[in-house]
Amino acid sequence: MASDTNQPTNGRPSTHVVIVGGGFAGIGCARELAGEDSVHVTLIDEHNYHQFQPLLYQVATAQLAATSIASSLRKTFHDYDNVDVKMGEVTEVDAAAHSVRTRAGDTIAGDILVLAAGAQANFFNTPGAAEHAFPLYSLTDAERLRTRMLTVFEDADRDPTLIDRGALNFVIVGAGATGTELAGSMADMIHDTMPEQYRDLAVSRATVQVVDLGHVVLNGFSDKAHKYASKVLTDRGVMLRLGTGVKEVTADHVVLSDGTTIQTHCVAWAGGLMAAAPAAASGLPQGRGGRIDVGPDLAPQGAPGVYVIGDMANIPGPDGQAFPQLGSVAQQSGQCVGASILAEIAGDPRKTFKYNDKGIMAMIGRGAAVAEVGKHRHELHGSIAFAAWLGVHAALMSGVRNRIEAFVDWGWDYFSKTRGPQVLDQRSAAAHIDWGDSDDSDIEVSARTRSAA
Ligand SMILES: Cc1cc2nc3c(=O)[nH]c(=O)nc-3n(C[C@H](O)[C@H](O)[C@H](O)COP(=O)(O)OP(=O)(O)OC[C@H]3O[C@@H](n4cnc5c(N)ncnc54)[C@H](O)[C@@H]3O)c2cc1C
Repeated sequence: MASDTNQPTNGRPSTHVVIVGGGFAGIGCARELAGEDSVHVTLIDEHNYHQFQPLLYQVATAQLAATSIASSLRKTFHDYDNVDVKMGEVTEVDAAAHSVRTRAGDTIAGDILVLAAGAQANFFNTPGAAEHAFPLYSLTDAERLRTRMLTVFEDADRDPTLIDRGALNFVIVGAGATGTELAGSMADMIHDTMPEQYRDLAVSRATVQVVDLGHVVLNGFSDKAHKYASKVLTDRGVMLRLGTGVKEVTADHVVLSDGTTIQTHCVAWAGGLMAAAPAAASGLPQGRGGRIDVGPDLAPQGAPGVYVIGDMANIPGPDGQAFPQLGSVAQQSGQCVGASILAEIAGDPRKTFKYNDKGIMAMIGRGAAVAEVGKHRHELHGSIAFAAWLGVHAALMSGVRNRIEAFVDWGWDYFSKTRGPQVLDQRSAAAHIDWGDSDDSDIEVSARTRSAA
């Protein structure tokens, strides 16, 4: 991959903008610059596709196929000569030189560097979590989690005694939007779909348990939404363990802060985020969650020609608090930087980020959702919110084909309570569980190890 600053576009020299990350933020920025003669964009992502993260939990629970929520970055910018897409994992960032280096050893330098590499799971140094828990931040994560869920069902179907050893206990760490949506969808899958498919298995013994140090479900939403979400989940058999932390995750159990041990081989981690690795590699000042602190113009201090957007940045809000990590914040921050770049080229001042808050929503399971719409957070619950959720998410998805596929799968799930893409990838490491000889002895050994330490 060559470094190609100031490549002429239509015979005129243009400003070379290097964007790292093709998520909501990176795409938002690239779209703003696409088709503009004054700039030439190189968009780098470790994947050749954009992943629609809000629906990852539906891939994990076999509601949607992976292809429904992924769209080709090359196809997205196919019609724009001034946008090049390159696949590569950025491992080094030289903010002063506006250049990045990929794992394959290529260096790409520009006149302007836009960092938009998003976030990764934050395990908060919980022992064993990085090794044994399943995060949910990428398509690969979602497919691994789905593989693990289906594997425990297949293994328990083959050997029902595994249920006594926690085979059908599913633990979700984190009761925020991701944990809540995942819990609702898992509960629907387990209680409605699986009994039909695993007729010899005591599926009724399966549990979904949500653990969170906080005391509410759906943090960030209103009190009414907390109560509604808790009721929907508990009505669907989800066990809420609030005010409780996770002390340790092992291959076959988790230990909670109240001393409880839950036998499980499937721990989904929705417990927190930190900035993706290029944030630390950049050497730029990192704040909360390892995110790079930026000003209202989305630029970090003391790094001319660099912008940081989306989940990778701490973007100051009007109340001094950073904006939350949301797709809409990421997308709008990307658009803002795109507009600033064009403004500066035209000799005008940069833009200041102003967030147009259209509200927040979460799906809690089949037919149940909460939506807080607009700046004044008008609240909708139940089937109206569910319909609003379907409409908004379908509209946000890239590509007509993805939308049609998603609507077919949602409709299928809603009316028939069956799920299409129950694909078990036997090559994945998540499909191989070492059940050992006796689970109890394993727990005793690890308890002894802990007290000895
Ligand atoms: C499960 C889940 C559910 C969510 N639900 C909602 C919701 O309902 N509504 C909402 O508004 N928000 C939701 N969010 C949050 C929202 O998805 C994020 O805020 C948004 O995706 C952030 O956009 P971004 O562009 O900053 O980062 P991302 O979308 O994460 O994009 C970052 C991109 O950078 C690439 N990348 C990372 N590291 C490197 C590297 N080293 N080299 C090259 N490329 C790299 C990645 O491949 C990725 O394509 C959800 C998030 C998750 C995880």
